[in-house]
Amino acid sequence: MQKVIDLRRDTITLPTEEMKRFAFQAPLGDSVYGEDPMQNELEALAASLLGKEASIFLPSGTMGNLIALLVHTNRGDEVILEENAHIRTSETGGIGAVAGLMVRAIRGEDGAPDPEDIRRAIRPKDIHYPRTRLICLENTHYRYGGIVPPLSKLQAIKKLAEEEGLRVHLDGARLFNASVYLGIPAKDIAACADTVMISLSKGLGAPVGSLLAGPRELIEEARRYRKMLGGGMRQTGWLCACGIVALSPGNIARLAEDHRNARLLAEKLVEIEGFEVDLSKVQTNFVLLYIRRRNLTAYRLAALLKEKGVLVTPVSETVVRFVTSKEVTREDILAAVDTVKRVLEYETKT
Ligand SMILES: *Cc1c(COP(=O)(O)O)cnc(C)c1O
Repeated sequence: MQKVIDLRRDTITLPTEEMKRFAFQAPLGDSVYGEDPMQNELEALAASLLGKEASIFLPSGTMGNLIALLVHTNRGDEVILEENAHIRTSETGGIGAVAGLMVRAIRGEDGAPDPEDIRRAIRPKDIHYPRTRLICLENTHYRYGGIVPPLSKLQAIKKLAEEEGLRVHLDGARLFNASVYLGIPAKDIAACADTVMISLSKGLGAPVGSLLAGPRELIEEARRYRKMLGGGMRQTGWLCACGIVALSPGNIARLAEDHRNARLLAEKLVEIEGFEVDLSKVQTNFVLLYIRRRNLTAYRLAALLKEKGVLVTPVSETVVRFVTSKEVTREDILAAVDTVKRVLEYETKT
C-alpha cells in the first residue's frame, strides 16, 4: 500500500518514542489538587521558557484563548484583534457566547493590525460605549499561512497598550515556529504580551495539550475558569510528560526541518505553470498555493490528490493550504510534488 502523505495539518503529529517511554513511567497524581508531579514540572518549564511568572496546563488551545479572554475582561468589554485571528474565525464564537465580549476586528495582512489603527479603535470614555480592554495578537498567524508578524510591530502594540492601560494576549499556538523563524527565544516574542497561549499538540508533536502563561495572579484566576469550563483533568502526568519532551530544546529546534520542507515544496510548486506562491510568505510550516488555471479549482485539485494518497486542504475556490510536520519527510515532499504534476498532466489530457 502506498504511504499517505498528509499535508493537511500539523495536528496529525504522533508522539515520539521518547515521549511514550518518558510518559509511561511518569509518576501520577490528582492535578486538580496540584498533586500531579509532571503537570507541575511542565507548568514551571513553560513559564520559564515564556518568561512569565506562572503557567497552566489545559486540554486545548481554544480553552487557553477563552480563559485568557475571561481573566482579562468583564462581560460587555471590547477586544481588538486582527480580522482573521483564529480567536475570531475558528473558536466557535466563544468570545461572544461564553466570554460575552464585543469584537473590534482590524485587518493587518502582515499578521497584526497597525498600531495607529488600534489607537483609533480604542473607545473614548463615554457611558454609551463598551470599554476597550484587551488586544489579542497571533503568532504565527494561521489564516495568512503561518506568517510571522514583524516583531517591531508587536513591540509597538505592547507599548501602545501600556500607554492606554490595555492588556495584550498572544495566541501563540505556533509561537515556537515563530521563534525558530526569527532565531530568537520564544520569551522575547512573549514579552509583547501579558498572557500567551502555546500548543503542544501541533508541530511539537505531543498528543494533547496547551498552556496559558502570564502573571501569577491571572494564572490563579485561570485555574478557577479551567474548573468552571470542565477542563480540570485528574492524572494528567502522561500527557504532561509528553509535553515536557515536546518543549525540549532539540524538539523545538526540529521545527526548522518542517520550515525547510515547506520552502522546498513552495519552490517546486511555483515552477508549475498556473501555480502561484508568495515565497516571501512561506516563513514557517505552511504553503498557500494560488491556482491560476482555467478549469481547475482548489477543491478539484484536492480531490484528485486525495485519490493518489496526498492530502491537502482547499481553503477557497483558488487556494490550497499545505502544512508540513514531522510526519512528512523531504522524500514525501518530493513525492507529493510528483503526484501534483501527474494529476495535472492527466487533467489537461482529458
Ligand atoms: C490550533 C489553533 C488554536 C486552537 O488550538 P486547539 O488546541 O485546536 O483548540 C488557536 N489558535 C491558533 C492560531 C491555532 O492554530
